[in-house]
Amino acid sequence: MNIDKFLTFNDVVIIPGKASVEPSMVDLTGKISKSITIKIPIASSPMDTVTGWRLSLTMARLGGIGVIHRNMSREDQASEVRKVKSQPPDIWNEIPKVNTTKSLGEVLSRKEEFFAVVEEDDIKGIVLKIGSDYFLESKKVDYLEKLLSMVGIKPSADKSNRPIVAAAISPYDLERAKMLDKAGADVLVTDVAHIHNENALSGLKKISKEVSAEIVAGNLGTKEGVKDTLSKVENVSGLRVGISSGSICLTGEVTGASVPTLSAVINSRKALEELGLFGKIPIIADGGVKNAGDAAKAIVAGASSVMLGKYLACTEESLGAKVSVGGNIYKQYRGMGSRGAIEKRYSEDRYSKPTKVIEEGVEGLVPYCGSVINAIAEVALGLQASLGYVGATNIEAAWNGRLAIITALGNLEVSAHDIIYKH
Ligand code: IMP
Repeated sequence: MNIDKFLTFNDVVIIPGKASVEPSMVDLTGKISKSITIKIPIASSPMDTVTGWRLSLTMARLGGIGVIHRNMSREDQASEVRKVKSQPPDIWNEIPKVNTTKSLGEVLSRKEEFFAVVEEDDIKGIVLKIGSDYFLESKKVDYLEKLLSMVGIKPSADKSNRPIVAAAISPYDLERAKMLDKAGADVLVTDVAHIHNENALSGLKKISKEVSAEIVAGNLGTKEGVKDTLSKVENVSGLRVGISSGSICLTGEVTGASVPTLSAVINSRKALEELGLFGKIPIIADGGVKNAGDAAKAIVAGASSVMLGKYLACTEESLGAKVSVGGNIYKQYRGMGSRGAIEKRYSEDRYSKPTKVIEEGVEGLVPYCGSVINAIAEVALGLQASLGYVGATNIEAAWNGRLAIITALGNLEVSAHDIIYKH
């Protein structure tokens, strides 16, 4: 028997290449589907503790995209899509503002982590609050610059200057797909753990003929899976790849089946290269992306964007409930194959059909991390730095970058080690 070898993000490092530009000049424009370009190559996962209209809107305003989860009725999901589409796209709408006419006491009593001080519509500065300290400049200039640069960021908007939005679908639910399409979803993303399945592909084929939104198929992990999907459903315009790398995922444990996200990207790239479609159909790396470094590894391997669950579940704008434990604040985060999520699906979507009985996800908590603006700024700046090491000025150039396999001991050395520190 021939045994394949799969790699995870922790197994590899990026080999630094010759750089011709500074990281701040790296263009992070990515893609979620053939014609949908995003300024920051990040999509939020369609999970019922992560993406609803609120996070989706902020993601679009930040230059990324949100994929609205489907653990609700068709009507409710369509109305979430409409809600995003009806808002103005500029990020400026997300920043709390305090007028200079307010007294210092009033300004400092604000609860937000950061806010802009404005005179008329002019930004006079951004105040950042960390614990009980306030920073307007000097000490935290880098952070301040980060926030200010986010203010200048271009939103992801459609031709009519409405925020772009994606929505999760089941390949077995044509009516939902049609309703979301009508509501204005720009992209429909299949949301099944294994689309490489005769019935699922037949269902998706039917859907693809009835909607005008672009279709992202997933999840996929193998070369054969990609090829079969593309031959069965001709107008697929994006691939969501990675099987069982998610932080809340039990699939690998309970079924033994897995294609870690990094290998899923590599396999998909090979399939697309053989079909002459690499660079034409975007690959979205989904599951297990813990930080900007992992996102950069996925991009070097061939991805056009990454999908984040846990990384965004901790934010204010995510759907998970806030919980206080021992004085610390957490947000609930759960897999869509966890018991709680499955139960909700059957209670809220009367058309849902059980395809599996076994639980393939867990429910848990993640430490609260404030506004998604901070989280996205962090990953975007990290990605620019990573691509700077690659020596790439944009994502397509990063595909020429190289990865090296590192030993498990080496992986320990390339993380912070041997000191006591707080992350
Ligand atoms: P994370 O970013 O590592 O937290 O992974 C999020 C991804 O995990 C999602 O985008 C899905 O592809 C996947 N996922 C969501 N729910 C489940 C589940 O219950 N079991 C397995 N994988 C899941």
